[in-house]
Amino acid sequence: MTDPLLDKSSAQRKTFFSQNHALLKQLTHEGQTPTALLICCADSRVMPEALFGLQPGQFFILRTVGNLIPPYHAADAGTVSALEFAVLQLQVPHLIICGHTDCGAIHGLDTPIDVSQKPALSRWLELARPAQRDVDFLGKVSGTERHRAIVEQNVRQQLAHVQSYPYVQAAMRAGKLSLHGWVYYLEIPAVGYLNQETGEFVV
Ligand SMILES: [Zn+2]
Repeated sequence: MTDPLLDKSSAQRKTFFSQNHALLKQLTHEGQTPTALLICCADSRVMPEALFGLQPGQFFILRTVGNLIPPYHAADAGTVSALEFAVLQLQVPHLIICGHTDCGAIHGLDTPIDVSQKPALSRWLELARPAQRDVDFLGKVSGTERHRAIVEQNVRQQLAHVQSYPYVQAAMRAGKLSLHGWVYYLEIPAVGYLNQETGEFVV
């Protein structure tokens, strides 16, 4: 008996394995030394390997709903263990938070969620609430522009969350870790980055 869903991609896998056979063997032997921890959304349209041309072993990837990560005081074992492992064990030199437009998590901030049906999701999305408040406080934008502004502000917010961890602060102080904020604008399509001097995103 076979699994039809797995069978669908057997040709792609065959090509991938033959192209990367030596590299996979080397990575198995030597272990991984990724250059970055990438925290991005679980959305099916966000495909980091394709977008950033990644080879096996290059990025350690944590995918969460809305590319959210709790701050230190609210750390949960599931997501934060990936942060600990990447920063303390793998000692990645770069940490990237990558948001994206048309993000269901960001849209979800405007839609009342039935807490009794989705208790975890409703709690989780609150990690992005400050980003929504910041944008709405200024009240300068609406519609698509507002959504885009919240997506960008949410990346800044999650960058602030990761910086609340003492070991992240220590690695940054030692010059061993630098942070990056990216946004994948699906509708353009393009990927922009946060200019940390101006605080604005550059597409
Ligand atoms: Zn998303």
